[in-house]
Amino acid sequence: MGTEKETVVLGAGLAGMVASIILAREGREVRVLESAKGLGGNSPFHPSLHATPIDMDKVAAWTGLDTNRMFTLGNVSETFIGTQVFYQKPMYIVERGNRSTAIDTYLFEEAEKLGVAFEFGHHVKDPKELPKGSIIATGYHPSMYKAFNMPCAKGEGYNLIAENDDPSLEGNVYSWIAPYTKDYAYGCVLNGMRYLLLFSRFSMPKEALDQFQKDLKATLGWEHDNWGAIRNHPYPWTFKRPKLLVDGYILAGAAGNNIDPMGGFGIHGAILSGVIAARAVSSPEKAAEELKRLNKRFTVAAVTFESLKRMPASARFYRIVLSYPELFGPMMFLMGRGIPGYDRNWCTEVINGYHKGRGLGERLSDMKKIFTY
Ligand SMILES: Cc1cc2nc3c(=O)[nH]c(=O)nc-3n(C[C@H](O)[C@H](O)[C@H](O)COP(=O)(O)OP(=O)(O)OC[C@H]3O[C@@H](n4cnc5c(N)ncnc54)[C@H](O)[C@@H]3O)c2cc1C
Repeated sequence: MGTEKETVVLGAGLAGMVASIILAREGREVRVLESAKGLGGNSPFHPSLHATPIDMDKVAAWTGLDTNRMFTLGNVSETFIGTQVFYQKPMYIVERGNRSTAIDTYLFEEAEKLGVAFEFGHHVKDPKELPKGSIIATGYHPSMYKAFNMPCAKGEGYNLIAENDDPSLEGNVYSWIAPYTKDYAYGCVLNGMRYLLLFSRFSMPKEALDQFQKDLKATLGWEHDNWGAIRNHPYPWTFKRPKLLVDGYILAGAAGNNIDPMGGFGIHGAILSGVIAARAVSSPEKAAEELKRLNKRFTVAAVTFESLKRMPASARFYRIVLSYPELFGPMMFLMGRGIPGYDRNWCTEVINGYHKGRGLGERLSDMKKIFTY
């Protein structure tokens, strides 16, 4: 399989389809092998809504993709610490899965127009059976992490997909910083759907969901009971920069650890690394340099945020960060350099935005609340 002119791409997800489109535009033949029977693999999670503080203009200019057609800029973005709300700069939202509104559908149609061949229901057990130079874009797949020697954790959590019956909430993004997860809990509303995810790379007992449900009711008034449990979900866990070339194969997306170490955002990493993977087919060294350049500060960001997340009472620390943008804004801006495609002004504007018109008294009252949460 695979010829001089043909490139094999493993995985019809975000990174794989972006890479295929770029290669097909250059006139190469591309064959995509996908284990799922249809579009939107990774089925336990999809349809799902993902939020991202992507720098849309820079990403569109750098990739040459019409990213504005794939993402919706949200209206409201709120972070809750406990039940206290912090304003955020709105994020972009993107739908994943096989519905007509999903980015997967858009990329698939673009790729098909360019003549990319898709083989659904084609599961590859051993990626090393594929020709060297193939692109491995298998997302969070444990056997691929093993094959390419990538350390990985087993995440746990709960997710929920529900119909949204309140159109005024369309485009809203919510996140919760709370002691019941050291990673994240978030919710998005788009395309008539509500999506919620409570996730941790550490264990996630049922009591965590009980507590999250209480916060959900107190903050948004939402009550849902059809939660799905996520168990043993592989997640790359390394401080090392994302990988591109391993044993003659080209890694892209989550398979190569292209995930933001600060907040677990993976959408921009999948898109950018998909483009770089396509470039690596003809110029591997140049592409590897480019990925290295984009991820220059990855390790610093990863070590810093891992240490913060592991601190006892880290939720309280985040409240201090949000309460003192003058001190922490510049730090977040610098850290953002470790994350390609990331809107670096986002953090600064998030924390500044919350404090518009707030006096010292209010901030001190925030600080007092730190000790009661
Ligand atoms: C539930 C959930 C919520 C998330 N929320 C956010 C968010 O809000 N914001 C954000 O920025 N990021 C989020 N992320 C992360 C982000 O979505 C991912 O990092 C990104 O989509 C990864 O893209 P990818 O192309 O690497 O993999 P995917 O898009 O997952 O594609 C991988 C494809 O490879 C296929 N495959 C796997 N193994 C094989 C095999 N052996 N043979 C053939 N095919 C195979 C799979 O079926 C799948 O179709 C979330 C991830 C999940 C799972």
